[in-house]
Amino acid sequence: MRRLLVLALVTIAACGGPRAETAPRTLSDAEYLQRRELMVPVQGVRPKDLRDTFSAPRSGGRAHLALDILAKTGTRVLSADDGVILRITKNELGGKVMYIADTQRRFVYYYAHLDEWKYGLKEGDTVKRGQLIGSVGTTGNAPKETPHLHFQLMRMGAGGRYWNGTPINPIPYLKRAGDER
Ligand SMILES: [Zn+2]
Repeated sequence: MRRLLVLALVTIAACGGPRAETAPRTLSDAEYLQRRELMVPVQGVRPKDLRDTFSAPRSGGRAHLALDILAKTGTRVLSADDGVILRITKNELGGKVMYIADTQRRFVYYYAHLDEWKYGLKEGDTVKRGQLIGSVGTTGNAPKETPHLHFQLMRMGAGGRYWNGTPINPIPYLKRAGDER
């Protein structure tokens, strides 16, 4: 038994090798996102308050592929991460929305159903985690009696197509409670 354990340890050490210490390795998406220490993007909401609605069904046979964070209309919406504003616009489903990339432009954060965008913000501006970017509302197709932030995390789409990336469930990476800086 002990002999087996020693053998196993030697094998593990050999796998690491000296090369692994010198060659920088690209972080996996999961490792990268873990290190971002993302903030729940609504003031006063804690990670344990979140309900996982990522896989919930939506009309037309779609899955939700995002998180709905319930809060009163006007509650402050905060940037989940440091990054840069890619787009501030309106669309039919999302209403008033924002797309923000992280500093490396590896991921995109989509904020929808905003009551208002923070006045003065514009595309190209940098934002910090916890910075006020808007307020919770019911614009777009949100039920009028259920104001919430629709928050989606996506990998950046090919060729910088930020609106077309692959959605990722943000729940495991939202480590900090919403707390405006
Ligand atoms: Zn939603």
